[in-house]
Amino acid sequence: MASVVWFRDDLRLADHAALAAAAEDDDGLIALYVLDEESDETRPLGGAAKWWLHGSLERLDAALRERGGALVLRRGRAEEVVPAVVRAAGATRVFWNRRYGAEREIDARLKEALRGDGIEARSFPGSLLFEPWTIATKSGGPYRVYSPFWRACLEAPEPARPLPAPATLAAADAHPESDDLAEWKLRPTSPDWATGIAERWTPGEDAARAALEDFLGGAVARYDAGRDVPSEDAVSGLSPYLRWGEISPRTVWHEAWRSGADVGTFLSELGWREFAWHTAFHHPDLHTRGLNARFDAFPWEDPDPADLAAWQQGTTGYPLVDAGMRELWQSGSMHNRVRMVAASFLTKNMLVDWRVGERWFWDTLVDADAASNPFNWQWVAGCGADAAPYFRIFNPRTQEQKFDPEGRYVKEWAPDSLLTPELVDLKASRERALAAYDTI
Ligand code: FAD
Repeated sequence: MASVVWFRDDLRLADHAALAAAAEDDDGLIALYVLDEESDETRPLGGAAKWWLHGSLERLDAALRERGGALVLRRGRAEEVVPAVVRAAGATRVFWNRRYGAEREIDARLKEALRGDGIEARSFPGSLLFEPWTIATKSGGPYRVYSPFWRACLEAPEPARPLPAPATLAAADAHPESDDLAEWKLRPTSPDWATGIAERWTPGEDAARAALEDFLGGAVARYDAGRDVPSEDAVSGLSPYLRWGEISPRTVWHEAWRSGADVGTFLSELGWREFAWHTAFHHPDLHTRGLNARFDAFPWEDPDPADLAAWQQGTTGYPLVDAGMRELWQSGSMHNRVRMVAASFLTKNMLVDWRVGERWFWDTLVDADAASNPFNWQWVAGCGADAAPYFRIFNPRTQEQKFDPEGRYVKEWAPDSLLTPELVDLKASRERALAAYDTI
């Protein structure tokens, strides 16, 4: 009897525990992807993420076909679609890799319903190094501070060695019909705002693997010294591949150690991703609620639409912020250092609620991640886990002098920003932010 493997944020064949388990049996396999924008627990994808998803699904389908399988695409509420596909295929088993945010409620209900119907429903470790519930404080709760969290991770049993991709897959006898990916219209047509994204990025497992090899073969040596310098090619560029599960963090972890390079700092950045998911696991409403409840009363200001547009479009007159915001719009990404500066500018110098910025990033980042994005926005805004104290306000000028001293990054993305009138006065806006903070 056939098995259904339900792909979600794990669009790969290697180190895919659910697929490996299903492939052990040669009774036939149906690979399923469900675009669920209807369930209460799912957060509809942003534009850049949809662009990425299209490419990723295309490549996953091609990789499955090379091995004798194919991807079935369906749109709708997962709790209706998955059982319908199981029935159409006459399948007796459904396997998936776990999700760790709000969507796991869907998975739990579905598992119970499928089992009630006599279907074997099983979940496997997904796209984290450590299952979030295995890392806990002495009192059994979640960590709120990064250093002890990461120490506990490093003391835990090492992440499992990655599983190989199955060499062949047996197709099921009955193959349920698939939607046509083009009809999902995940990519823009006219205007096609994604040309810059397409120039920079290639979605898919092969490109993920290539990015890792590239990084470990070169830039990793510059990582510790250069990772904060946006004009330097010193970071891995792996975040969208990890976001979509085109490579597993276990693969990154083991390959990094195997490379023989000094990878401690790099892996500790992967640790921040784990920490963000650990936090989202315990706070599934991370993108709507501040972790620090005191901030519920913070006097955020309603942004003037023109001011907000200036931030979004990179015309604030602060070159590092403008360069970052334009890099984001044009390429679907932004260097981490500049993300921090741009987020600080919005939440502190403009006094705009972090959720407004989080939503913009959610719509424009190809790595828009349900944990890392709100987690980092909260961290910068001062209301998150292990956040820097609110009164530590990045000065975009000083940051520029420190991290882009020759203006190479600014010249690449926003050379005209030097001539743009400044949107806010740094000193006055800093004082206004501190006064607002005093009220809570
Ligand atoms: P590298 O430096 O090569 O790091 C390796 C990996 O570690 C990254 O691919 C990423 O998975 C992880 N990582 C690194 N830094 C962080 C971090 N601070 N938090 C969580 N994971 C981290 N990252 C996302 O993946 N998705 C997001 O939506 C996202 N939104 C952000 C919003 C703000 C306001 C800020 C300040 C940061 C955000 N980040 C987000 C974190 C970070 O900016 C990106 O992960 C990083 O820029 C990706 O580049 P890289 O892959 O070359 O990173």
